[in-house]
Amino acid sequence: MSTRKAIILDRDGVLIEDKNYSYKIEDLELLPGVIEGLKQIQEMYFFFIVTNQSGIGKGYYTLEDFHKYNNHLISILEENHIKIEKTFLCPHIKEDKCDCRKPNPKFIIEIANQWNIDLKSSWMIGDHPSDIQFGINGGCRTVYMITGHGKKHLQDLEDKGIIPTLVHSNFLEAVEEIRRLDT
Ligand SMILES: [Mg+2]
Ligand SMILES: [Zn+2]
Repeated sequence: MSTRKAIILDRDGVLIEDKNYSYKIEDLELLPGVIEGLKQIQEMYFFFIVTNQSGIGKGYYTLEDFHKYNNHLISILEENHIKIEKTFLCPHIKEDKCDCRKPNPKFIIEIANQWNIDLKSSWMIGDHPSDIQFGINGGCRTVYMITGHGKKHLQDLEDKGIIPTLVHSNFLEAVEEIRRLDT
């Protein structure tokens, strides 16, 4: 049986522009290379989104707003024949000390168990140190994107001693390197 692999994606700052707690459809803006990149590797990996949405916990927008916005993204991807298996979200704020906020590995373990995914053959792509720590906690390889908040937190990543497998500033280039490494 072939290994089932996943690419686990942070959403804001990786797939779409991170406009700080955005939830309005008119603000949704895909980042360059995302559609093309996902298309290139969709035969090889299952795709998942795992996103921290503390804007819900802070009362900036509702769970319903989140789903409307996220469904819009999913439908754009579907139009391009790209399937996201599932979006996992943490609606809490840090102070809630929940078990689902990245870097807690709850969702990554759920993905591995429910989809029978081999995590060490999989990747987590994110633009925040907590995304990289999340991937590491799950035993994945990681890509740190200096697209969204990535640039701002680069020092933070170093200070915490969190080491991503790859660092990229363009989604398509990240995917091309993943492909090279995995084929
Ligand atoms: Mg992000
Ligand atoms: Zn949570």
